[in-house]
Amino acid sequence: MTGPAEIRLRDLTVSYERMPAVHHLSGAFQGGRLSAVMGPNGAGKSTLLKSLVGLLPLDEGDIGLSGLARREIAYLPQHADLDTSFPITVFDVVAMGLWQELGLFGRIDAARTARVNEALETVGLPGFGERPVTNLSVGQLQRVLFARLLIQNAKAILLDEPFAAVDERTVQELLAVMRRWREEGRIVIAVLHDLAMARTAFDDALLLAREPVAWGGVEETLGTDNLARARYISDGWGRAA
Ligand code: ADP
Ligand code: MG
Repeated sequence: MTGPAEIRLRDLTVSYERMPAVHHLSGAFQGGRLSAVMGPNGAGKSTLLKSLVGLLPLDEGDIGLSGLARREIAYLPQHADLDTSFPITVFDVVAMGLWQELGLFGRIDAARTARVNEALETVGLPGFGERPVTNLSVGQLQRVLFARLLIQNAKAILLDEPFAAVDERTVQELLAVMRRWREEGRIVIAVLHDLAMARTAFDDALLLAREPVAWGGVEETLGTDNLARARYISDGWGRAA
């Protein structure tokens, strides 16, 4: 497929038991830009990402894709629910990123092995392949999951609070990986809490309070008035719940 990648939302509403968590959201995420999704707790940020990858049914509205297919969207959930008590190796976790191109009976040949090792180098974990994931730090585990996203080669990458509990050095190195994805024209969407990071490292922001508060360039979107309004609207929804 050619042309810039875009995910368009038209009047999107997603609810749990008829209580909307994302309410009448319209706009677009564009390729070649880093988009931050921000808002108070319970604002619908995780719900939005899950609905984009098809994990939740839509109540209203629709999601349009240009320049990519649904299976080309990669998703890293909040608190990656990877069972780290199971003694799987770092290599195997990263190689899972190949499942779509391998299918059920595909083989991890020399070229694919090299790609896994190269991804581990990119995220600063050269030679970690044979280690069990059991005793990785939070930051190291997040690097492994980014390596998996790297070899997945998705056109859109959705990250739900990717930097939670991650050390500062890892944050900076993972941001560098995200900038590389931006240069490659991919859609990169991250749920964030850090306003300063969004303002300095991201291009666009979507500010949610179940309903959209603002969506556009980070400076305008994350202005004081919008932030106050997001909190006010969110508190109102809290009382209605
Ligand atoms: P955020 O990620 O912005 O903190 P969420 O998208 O997780 O917010 O949640 C938005 C709202 O939907 C919250 O009020 C939350 O309690 C509610 N919610 C989230 N998941 C479920 C669920 N599985 N069942 C019922 N309500 C849910
Ligand atoms: Mg969340």
